Amino acid sequence: MSDCIFCKIANHEIESNYVYEDDLVTAFRDMNPQAPTHVLVVPKAHYANIVDGVPAQTLAAMAHAVDEVAKKEGIRESGFRVVANTGDDAGQTVHHLHWHVIGGARLTDGMA
Ligand code: AMP
Ligand code: ZN
Repeated sequence: MSDCIFCKIANHEIESNYVYEDDLVTAFRDMNPQAPTHVLVVPKAHYANIVDGVPAQTLAAMAHAVDEVAKKEGIRESGFRVVANTGDDAGQTVHHLHWHVIGGARLTDGMA
């Protein structure tokens, strides 16, 4: 999608603060972090959200990226949260599938 900010970041048309990358997925730091670690795991292909026909291979790559991010950030053992805001009632603001990986502190009952 030509006007999608996460398409541009995931495909390096705009550079960001990347934490992990492979053929299908990128992970980069959220520009408005809600916790010491707040990384977005984003597929390189455009899907509006998690119920937009995302191939199993891409979902598996995203799960692998979560694992890699958690290892790199040192939060794999202490625990972290993965959030996929989906649609208006969840407050999704960027309509390109992304998983928030949030951790590095004791999290509240809210999103972060
Ligand atoms: P959501 O409410 O799940 O759609 O969250 C979108 C997230 O993307 C927010 O946490 C924003 O801070 C983050 N965000 C938006 N634009 C950028 C950007 N250009 N680089 C990094 N993070 C971004
Ligand atoms: Zn996109």
